[in-house]
Amino acid sequence: MDLQIATVVYCLLVAALFLGLWRYYDRRDHARFEQERRHAAFHCVRCGHTYAVQGDHETAACPRCAHENARLKF
Ligand SMILES: [Zn+2]
Repeated sequence: MDLQIATVVYCLLVAALFLGLWRYYDRRDHARFEQERRHAAFHCVRCGHTYAVQGDHETAACPRCAHENARLKF
């Protein structure tokens, strides 16, 4: 194989590798950011306390009375 063609193929492989790494880390960081940003709101049916929990939860315990409440839906 010609040296020039081999160099071009090598450069394309390196570029593809870095593009793949960039995509992987970008998606991972975006997923992590979304996870931190997302909050679920809850209203305690026992004591009336309104609170938020980080992450995507369907139920969470009240910080005041520890009663398990369902997530508020808007
Ligand atoms: Zn409560």
